[in-house]
Amino acid sequence: MSTRNERSILAELNPEQREAALYFDGPLLILAGAGSGKTRVLTYRVALLVASGRADPGRILAITFTNKAAEEMRGRIHRLVGPRAAAIWISTFHAACARILRREAERLGYGRNFVIYDDEDQLRMVNRVMRDLDMDVKRFPPRMVRAMIEKAKIDMVDAEEYGRRAQDDLTKTVSAVYRSYQEQLLKNNAMDFDDLLLNTIALFELYPAVLEHYQERFSFINVDEYQDTNPSQYRLVRLLSGKHRNLCVVGDDDQGIYSWRGADLRNILEFERDFPEAKVVRLERNYRSTRTILEAANHVVSRIAGRKDKRLWTDREEGEPIRYLFAPSGSEEAAFVASEINRLVEERGYRHRDIAVFYRTNAQSRPFEEVFLRAAVPYKIVGGFKFYERKEVKDVLAYLKFLLNPTDGISLRRIINEPRRGIGETTLAYLENYSRKEGIPLWEAVRRAGEVRGVGAAARRKLGEFVELMEDLSRRMEEKPLPDFLREVLERTGYLEALRREGTFEAEGRLENLEELLGAAAEFFAAHPGEGLDAFLERTSLVAEIDLYDEEEGAVTLMTLHNAKGLEFPVVFIVGMEDGVFPHVRCMDSEASMEEERRLFYVGVTRAKDLLYLTGAATRSQYGDLRVSPESRFIKDIPPRYLEVVSSFQWDREGARLTEAVYRAEALAASFRVGDRVLHEVWGEGMVTAISRGRSGPEITVNFPAVGEKLLLLEYAPIRKVG
Ligand code: ATP
Ligand code: MG
Repeated sequence: MSTRNERSILAELNPEQREAALYFDGPLLILAGAGSGKTRVLTYRVALLVASGRADPGRILAITFTNKAAEEMRGRIHRLVGPRAAAIWISTFHAACARILRREAERLGYGRNFVIYDDEDQLRMVNRVMRDLDMDVKRFPPRMVRAMIEKAKIDMVDAEEYGRRAQDDLTKTVSAVYRSYQEQLLKNNAMDFDDLLLNTIALFELYPAVLEHYQERFSFINVDEYQDTNPSQYRLVRLLSGKHRNLCVVGDDDQGIYSWRGADLRNILEFERDFPEAKVVRLERNYRSTRTILEAANHVVSRIAGRKDKRLWTDREEGEPIRYLFAPSGSEEAAFVASEINRLVEERGYRHRDIAVFYRTNAQSRPFEEVFLRAAVPYKIVGGFKFYERKEVKDVLAYLKFLLNPTDGISLRRIINEPRRGIGETTLAYLENYSRKEGIPLWEAVRRAGEVRGVGAAARRKLGEFVELMEDLSRRMEEKPLPDFLREVLERTGYLEALRREGTFEAEGRLENLEELLGAAAEFFAAHPGEGLDAFLERTSLVAEIDLYDEEEGAVTLMTLHNAKGLEFPVVFIVGMEDGVFPHVRCMDSEASMEEERRLFYVGVTRAKDLLYLTGAATRSQYGDLRVSPESRFIKDIPPRYLEVVSSFQWDREGARLTEAVYRAEALAASFRVGDRVLHEVWGEGMVTAISRGRSGPEITVNFPAVGEKLLLLEYAPIRKVG
């Protein structure tokens, strides 16, 4: 692959973009609307720094919002400047911090081989701490406590500070858990996601010389999606750029959609206050969307108060109108989307992967999945089912985490009896008690099981075998190529064997997932020779939802609007356009959260290149209840001249067929109520006692005096209402 010189790189930017990409003398803010090339400028700017020899690749830091975006950026820069791209730090905030802490964690009392706890590990730890502290988990559900700790961390409030501020029972409880949780994490040599940021900040604040080293090192810092930075990310950026002040941030205040996770729009709006000497560049030309889509988006966003006004224009054609359908029911909405997708593919040459369906919350995907299955539309869900969250994958990763870091008690607890080896809860309780009393890691207690009172002879023998196995594996870890080692772990721990013996359909699926994991490991180590197990584990724990999305696949993408940030698709459907769904009912009572909802709508609309569909449904059936909603107020933000309203007679025959299949069952469910009297062809009269959703469609439970209670599949049951 030939690398390119500065001039040919610059030829692919317009004059404003060029100006931004070539400005290297201090802080730079690129504040511009969607699709104007912000990410492109950032990418090209980094390439130019390398191509011109102005910066050593290892001294450039580029921050993206997801790992996937980082990979895309690296790929593009590689195409522009060749293998030199490899040395550039391109990653998310979390991954960059993890990388720094791998070198420096010892200063904070952690080992360099610390493990990263994900949501589930976190919850387990909160649970354990609460149990140890004898707390009432009914009154203070661990999930809630975890969320409050997370919130505190996002606001950079540490356990001590939190304790000082605690007033009522709830916050006092959380404060005690928070403190003990952090102690436990340190003891287990583990950090959660937020700790990655907070510990890096602590490192820099405690060790000025270390900070200075990294300030010196990163002479050019670039941050994409800056509008969604939270306080700790903001702090990090300020610390790191404090010396050179060569900080380039790009973003769009109209696309701030993460305030619910602590992001603060002021970070971008007040950039010029933080860096008075900053140069500000605005980009106004949109390269992504047709004129119709762009104009509609401009109208949506113009209704937001207090924004920095910016108008986008495009050279693209006017394009087709935005199609809008407000269907009588959710099933008809889904059937319309499916039949429209089939039409676009068959008649207009779009590929499935050109098409995306966005919704407000994950749970909305279900009706679309059902219809897509019936209509043979290939689809994939981003964020719905996460590979690395599957039990068997997490179990095996826990083995690896533990082998790498035996002080990690959470992982040890997860695997010690998985697969079953006769080490029961009671034995574990004795061991944990012992480890607490002696102030030693759980693993140490397991090794000393002989001295632990209460652990019987049989359990001792089993623990002894387990210790031997783990110690042997840990020796093997050094000798074997890692993918082979992984397979050895799967075999020798009996994990695969247990699944094979189970022989169920589900176990087969789990085995397939483990094969997939072995494949992922082989792929990883082939791509990163010389990296160790820790690098692989880090990779797996940092894979955000979005990263499982692979655009080579020929499938329609289903995802939430939040996940769609930064992406673009030729065809976009935004579904569930109803008041209460989108805007979400929880956001409708405050002005600020309504504005965020509107920005989310803007993000959705501006993902579309050629065609945009908005759809909603007047009714949705939920377990036999019918929920009625008005159309989304956001529809009124778009002037009617851009909309083409779809009415039902325009549907093709397939739409009608699909609608009928799905709709018949749903309508039927909605037509019955608990307490209704029904007549069955064989069993005679009875009374409805429940209506539910089964695997194959709605079900009804009827109590017949003649034969008792019966569960029937509504679609096929020979019953009718009487009376
Ligand atoms: P968002 O706000 O959605 O993140 P963005 O401002 O980052 O958008 P990009 O994704 O960088 O915009 O660019 C949008 C599209 O326009 C991309 O397909 C990009 O390749 C294209 N594009 C940007 N600038 C140019 C240009 N000068 N010439 C040709 N295509 C361009
Ligand atoms: Mg972008």
